[in-house]
Amino acid sequence: MGTFADFHRQSIEAPEAFWAEQAKGIHWHRPFDQVLQYDQPPFARWFVGGQTNICYNAVDRHVDARGDQAALIFVSTETDTETVYTFKQLHQEVQRMAAVLRAQGVGKGDRVLIYMPMIPEAAFAMLACVRIGAIHSVVFGGFASVSLASRIDDCEPKAIVSADAGSRAGKVVPYKHLLDEAIKLSSNKPNSVIMVDRGLAAWPRTEGRDVDYASACAALTDAQVPCEWVDATHPSYILYTSGTTGKPKGVQRDTGGYAVALNASIQHIYMGQPGETYFSTSDIGWVVGHSYIIYAPLLAGMATIMYEGVPIRPDPAIWWSLVEKYKVSVMFSAPTAVRVLKKYDSSFIKKHDLSSLKALFLAGEPLDEPTANWIADELGRPIIDNYWQTETGWPILSICNGVEPKAAKFGSPGLPVYGYNVKLVDDATGEELHEPNRKGVLAIEGPLPPGCMQTVWRNDERFLSSYWRSVPNRLIYSTSDWAVRDEDGYYFILGRTDDVINVAGHRLGTREIEESISSHAAVAEVAVVGVADQLKGQVAMAFAVLKDASLAETADGARVLEGQIMKVVDEQLGAVARPARVRFVTLLPKTRSGKLLRRAIQAVCEGRDPGDLTTIDDPSALRQIQDLMGA
Ligand code: ATP
Ligand code: MG
Repeated sequence: MGTFADFHRQSIEAPEAFWAEQAKGIHWHRPFDQVLQYDQPPFARWFVGGQTNICYNAVDRHVDARGDQAALIFVSTETDTETVYTFKQLHQEVQRMAAVLRAQGVGKGDRVLIYMPMIPEAAFAMLACVRIGAIHSVVFGGFASVSLASRIDDCEPKAIVSADAGSRAGKVVPYKHLLDEAIKLSSNKPNSVIMVDRGLAAWPRTEGRDVDYASACAALTDAQVPCEWVDATHPSYILYTSGTTGKPKGVQRDTGGYAVALNASIQHIYMGQPGETYFSTSDIGWVVGHSYIIYAPLLAGMATIMYEGVPIRPDPAIWWSLVEKYKVSVMFSAPTAVRVLKKYDSSFIKKHDLSSLKALFLAGEPLDEPTANWIADELGRPIIDNYWQTETGWPILSICNGVEPKAAKFGSPGLPVYGYNVKLVDDATGEELHEPNRKGVLAIEGPLPPGCMQTVWRNDERFLSSYWRSVPNRLIYSTSDWAVRDEDGYYFILGRTDDVINVAGHRLGTREIEESISSHAAVAEVAVVGVADQLKGQVAMAFAVLKDASLAETADGARVLEGQIMKVVDEQLGAVARPARVRFVTLLPKTRSGKLLRRAIQAVCEGRDPGDLTTIDDPSALRQIQDLMGA
């Protein structure tokens, strides 16, 4: 094992040799002629001339060596189902789904929209698409019709695969009327809608368009659909970003680069081995679900757990009981889920044997220190914060323990991952900041490594304008996140560039103010936004959720708390950071993936339209703020 610094240096100084080596981890039907083509920056083409297939690499190639090993472990605490598919069985199921898609006229390059709950057929559908060279676009199951319609319009699917219903915390969420309404709203009409009937909800059928999956499958028990060998640069899927900061962008991913990058990440970052079990608690509607529920574990010959349900039902021990039962070696979750668990008695973790677990990886939003410390103490296992985006598909910052074990620092997702030439740049000039402890925009010098987005679907212009800026002689990719780097090279994410407020000329990060407010013992969670102010330019407004909501029930109670919280901010950050008001709510508006929708809160506070809300989880949260602001 060499040092990580060497490994990283090689990946930047000799990317072609580096990635050619990583590419040996997957099967190529036709070897590539050129590792990297970067003659039209920032459009990078990896493994040019090569032909492969992601489904072949994730499923078929494991059938001989590990056909009877578990591949997909489906656990639903919503329907009380637990089913294990071996690689052999998965191979068969994927071919049946592929045959049904084929029968509907779906072929190479056609888009298939997948609007499904977390059930095995969703995984079959994703794998079946890439098997036949079709491009999937998974939309989080249960999204409102308007959100769904905008994605149908953007990616123009030939077919849609859906199900009668999802279920969340025991509540059935029927999908079909949402889907029918979305199709009605969109200007593009799919030829067919393939329906998986779970027997949860009745669904109206449109003759000539809707297909019942079970009946279509009945004749296809032994369906054989060979893999379509596609160019390494052939798009594998389109996935829309979370929409935290605006209209979701259709991230387009390639085939060869993605397979190589994910396969390598299991070894170098996640330390998974073939035959072990990976458990990612995300949803297939998000990038973590694409990369680390479906593709990466299977590419690496690991079993993967697909979990339908919430983390606290039937009790808060459910995830840990799965870790014990299936000897999970790698687990991946989000800080928001850990914060949910933290509200419960920790004996539920301690009663399980977690000795198989090597580490818990967390990503998606800032990992605050109290949450990190709590889960580290409970598990007695390394907690590894990793930072990335839908756009990149795999981590930008992490500790790469598979290359060289290194200590993590709380509050930091670690070091730039191999392949990423990470820079900190001055927001105004784009100039690189070399000295430690200076705050800048986290940027990546092109080319982006394999696995990252190729472009915005059918919108090269938006790809260029949303992400790339020119600095002398080159193009750099902006993550739109603030960060600092310490003396040891560790990065700390400070928040999004949109989340900076300017109070009378002082630039303040909303996250700093939020952390300060959170340190008040009564506060469970808080959102801070900058609101336009005639005098000061902007002022900070805070919306806090209390651990005990009754404390702010009376006007007096609320006023006392508000005063206390302002005092905390005064003491920790100075009066300039003190919010103009601290208001109390029972819920904060978040995306379905658990990210705070600060821009929507800000818009409401300024009396503006809250904009694209297609990914909001519970609209009543925003209404509480609207009511408080008298909008
Ligand atoms: P949109 O781009 O549509 O506004 P989004 O940025 O929330 O939505 P994602 O790609 O799901 O969409 O999220 C990526 C963002 O999440 C990062 O840019 C960063 O702001 C945040 N993030 C991810 N991981 C971490 C982490 N480990 N620490 C801090 N922030 C993180
Ligand atoms: Mg983003």
